[in-house]
Amino acid sequence: MIDLKKKKIIKYSKLLVKNGLSPLRSGNISIRHKIKNIDGFFISPSGKKNDQIKINDIVFVSMSGKIYENKKPSSEWGFHLDLYKHTNCNAVVHAHSKFAVISSCLYKQIPAFHYMVALTNSKSIKVARYALFGSKSLSKNIIKAIGTSKTCLISNHGQISIGNSIENAFELAEEVELLCDYYYHCRLQKIPKNISNKEMDKVLNKILNYKSD
Ligand SMILES: [Zn+2]
Repeated sequence: MIDLKKKKIIKYSKLLVKNGLSPLRSGNISIRHKIKNIDGFFISPSGKKNDQIKINDIVFVSMSGKIYENKKPSSEWGFHLDLYKHTNCNAVVHAHSKFAVISSCLYKQIPAFHYMVALTNSKSIKVARYALFGSKSLSKNIIKAIGTSKTCLISNHGQISIGNSIENAFELAEEVELLCDYYYHCRLQKIPKNISNKEMDKVLNKILNYKSD
């Protein structure tokens, strides 16, 4: 079980690069895990290239913030911890994906310009206010922006997507990247029409039922 989760971190870290979601050493991935009675999560290490991570590089961090085996987790482990504390997710994908980064630098939010925004469990994708990477303030801004959604952008930085599995979180990160790509290209031409609040309620309902089928 331990190795399976570590292997998944390696697999999806490689996919971050292969699928163009987060190049080089940017971004990070974590999966919630319990070792005996210690609740925590596995996370990718600090400073390694995403496609060169080995099993031994992966770090366990407890929910009280203790880092095990003298290893060095990603410098952004703090917001992973806070996301596990404040949401009921089991996996977190943080990516510096191209259009999410561009959108995080340009916009205050991604509105309901396309119905698939509802995949994030909300009617818009919020952008967390800028703060220094790895800082407590950044973590606070992220928790505020993500709210009950499964995604937020981080101003002048990138995106975060969460899920009840790494598969779901990763797929959502890919969807969010696509939405940011579409939105950016719409905005180059004009401000796009938005879907009404009432209609987005219907979409959210339908997506929720569709998923539980
Ligand atoms: Zn980052």
